[in-house]
Amino acid sequence: MEVIIIGGGIAGLGAAYKVRRAAEAGYDVTFTLVERDDRLGGKIWTDIAEDPDGGRYIADGGSDSFLTDKTAVHRVAKLLGVFDEECGTLEENKKTFIVKRGKLVEMPDGMMMFAPTKLVPLATSRLYSWPAKFRMALDFVIPRKVRWAEGETAADHDETLESLVVRRLGREALDRLAEPLAAGVNGDLASEMSVAARYPMLLDMEQQHGSLVRGFLAQRKKVEEIKRRYPPKPGAKRRTFFSSFNEGLQFICDRMADAAGREHIRTGVGATAIERAGDGWRVTLTTGEVLEADAVIVATEVWAAAGLARGVDGALASLLDTIPSSSCATAILAFDAADYPHDTRWHGVLTPSVERRPLTGVSLMSSKWPDRAPEGRVLFRGFLGGPRDPEVLEQSDEALLELARTQLAELIGIRPDARPRYAKLFRWEKGMPQYTLGHLDRVDEIERLTAGLRGFGLAGNAYRGVGVPNALESGEQAVSKVLAEVGITLAEDSVEERRVY
Ligand SMILES: Cc1cc2nc3c(=O)[nH]c(=O)nc-3n(C[C@H](O)[C@H](O)[C@H](O)COP(=O)(O)OP(=O)(O)OC[C@H]3O[C@@H](n4cnc5c(N)ncnc54)[C@H](O)[C@@H]3O)c2cc1C
Repeated sequence: MEVIIIGGGIAGLGAAYKVRRAAEAGYDVTFTLVERDDRLGGKIWTDIAEDPDGGRYIADGGSDSFLTDKTAVHRVAKLLGVFDEECGTLEENKKTFIVKRGKLVEMPDGMMMFAPTKLVPLATSRLYSWPAKFRMALDFVIPRKVRWAEGETAADHDETLESLVVRRLGREALDRLAEPLAAGVNGDLASEMSVAARYPMLLDMEQQHGSLVRGFLAQRKKVEEIKRRYPPKPGAKRRTFFSSFNEGLQFICDRMADAAGREHIRTGVGATAIERAGDGWRVTLTTGEVLEADAVIVATEVWAAAGLARGVDGALASLLDTIPSSSCATAILAFDAADYPHDTRWHGVLTPSVERRPLTGVSLMSSKWPDRAPEGRVLFRGFLGGPRDPEVLEQSDEALLELARTQLAELIGIRPDARPRYAKLFRWEKGMPQYTLGHLDRVDEIERLTAGLRGFGLAGNAYRGVGVPNALESGEQAVSKVLAEVGITLAEDSVEERRVY
């Protein structure tokens, strides 16, 4: 069986490596992967640059991490024998600041997402006004919006993040933390984000506990109980909330490409059309070549998938077109440590939209991860654009880097005349799919239509999770689908085999 995989991000590479494992398990299956860009990794792109005075920067321009609790990346890292290359964040520096009236205010201890779970830090924090703190406390007594009927789930009671947070915790809780988290982490507008698709557990919490704060308190208790019961084994890897790799996140993409077989991978070649060819598929490339295969997996951004699906199923293409995507840019800037004469023990800064700043967030990469910058340097990453400020991206790369530099000076105190030792701008045009209200219904229908297309698979971050592990797993699942259609089920598809820890 020949499989064509379109797109060489982590989803496409996950698919390719899975085909390879099927071949190694003895099945007659092979693949060709085509990637339009001249590099693999898609939204994962680690730039490794030398400092003129020695040492190097390891800068992730796209995704810099994945959630440790989601197992797909660990599982693949173990299969590849590179699990020991994983690294956690530097917990001793784990502070986050929120911009309030142009100044940095530390996020109060005990905040879980945007909900307070510790009284004293909240009461003493300057982040919220007193009326806002009292309003948050009302979460304990405000009744549920509705009691779900037997068998109903979050998907039956979707609402936007804005609606949920304002209803339970008040407007200031939204403006000061929930909104910048949505914009900074997901590139989403809180006023449009589907809670059922992104954070269904929030709706579950309200049902189960009648309050978000009580729900988070119960979650915290559970986590503490698990930590007590299962203390880390001596010498075991330290687990932090986010993980990456010592050489940056692209490391795992490169290792997957090596293991899958680079001889089957073509970069700088895009697919322009897909059509049925008998029982199989025909894919036309930007070079004018036409490839034929038994199966095709589309692992591109959703808007590109919509274009390619046009020749496959018009209804499917139209549905894919209804999933919007936002654009953003990341500005990576390194300075002499002397140009930032402040405390470096922090990971990030979030900028609420009410602050009207072009920088939606900042990460201090050299404090968040080990060995990302040479001694005596600080490495920052600023986020620009996103759905709340797409116009800013019309500026040139140079102008955006300069904008990020001046914002860093104003917000966090980089010396105004400091010149970067290393600077690079990454643009992510329509790079983040938006899970808006009704997303889950749309994806159910997309999956129903795709299930009816023998030998056709869809993968990527636009459907059942935007995170790196979700995207990786979606590529593997697309392979499982097309293999199952010809009667192949791999042992590794069983739950037992997929267990990591
Ligand atoms: C700035 C930024 C920060 C992020 N931070 C995090 C984070 O910290 N943690 C996290 O978990 N997630 C993060 N994400 C999200 C995560 O990186 C992505 O969801 C994930 O990498 C997407 O992988 P993918 O393979 O689905 O898609 P992509 O990486 O978008 O890959 C799709 C590939 O398809 C190719 N392609 C498109 N059309 C064609 C065609 N016609 N022919 C051939 N190839 C084509 C594209 O060139 C691209 O390489 C971030 C995303 C961005 C943009």
